[in-house]
Amino acid sequence: MEVHKIIQSCRDAVEAGRERGQIVGLVPTMGALHAGHLSLIEAARRRCDLVVVTLFVNPTQFGPGEDLTAYPRDFDGDVRACESAGVGMLFAPTTDIMYPGGEATTVHVARLTEHLCGASRPGHFDGVTTVVTKLFHIAPAHLAFFGEKDYQQLVVIRKMAADLNMPIEIVGCPIVREPDGLAMSSRNAYLNPDERGRATVLFRALTEAQARVAEGNVDSGAVLDGLRRTIGDAGMIEVEYAEIVEASTLTPLTIVDRPARICLAARLGRSRLIDNVAVDPPGDAG
Ligand code: AMP
Repeated sequence: MEVHKIIQSCRDAVEAGRERGQIVGLVPTMGALHAGHLSLIEAARRRCDLVVVTLFVNPTQFGPGEDLTAYPRDFDGDVRACESAGVGMLFAPTTDIMYPGGEATTVHVARLTEHLCGASRPGHFDGVTTVVTKLFHIAPAHLAFFGEKDYQQLVVIRKMAADLNMPIEIVGCPIVREPDGLAMSSRNAYLNPDERGRATVLFRALTEAQARVAEGNVDSGAVLDGLRRTIGDAGMIEVEYAEIVEASTLTPLTIVDRPARICLAARLGRSRLIDNVAVDPPGDAG
């Protein structure tokens, strides 16, 4: 596995792969890799000849007071994990390489970034879309793989790639969960044992809500009230938002009459966790 730390050598190596006729797949991550990341790498391996993983804790997507300095980092472990997962190339730049100073350009996706996580994390998605655009230019892949765990991020990146005619296919991958249902996340490392136990209520509340819709309860307000009650019963969890949104546009739905997503963000202690599940209108076979 090649490890690149500078932009030109990474781009040259990816372009050489393309010239050899390889289909290149990109998996952008912030490292501290877990089984969720590995599932993206596996999906990329199924469709691509050369898998490029990027490891970069992107400061511009963290707000003031967020967990940038505390964010878990494990470069050696990540290198080993990528090597055994069959990754061909790793790009792990420093912040100075990615942002040498004097940058004046931001990629902004309007509307889709204004609610859900965008409401409580101003500027977060500009940080994401700008760094992902940079990575698409540094490692010009044919496909890029993103997890449904960060569902809003996936929809925003799809929209950015479409609007800006980026010559890359965005592939969404299902959420990988712990055996008790908690969505895997590098941030789960912040949870103490008590919080870790209570965190399982998030997925339980989401699946209950999903079942209520499947039984014919299509009133989003009522379904979300039930979800908040279930989470409230677990104690000491603050729901930041819980919304049912149209799956492709993230438009909030008052009635679940089309494919949708129940999206949730919650705070437990010093951790902020997000999760989501798909919901289809009752009787919708698709
Ligand atoms: P991160 O390192 O947290 O920025 O995540 C990098 C990529 O991995 C993003 O596309 C995430 O959506 C994806 N990802 C993170 N956790 C999971 C998970 N539990 N299941 C599937 N994908 C995930």
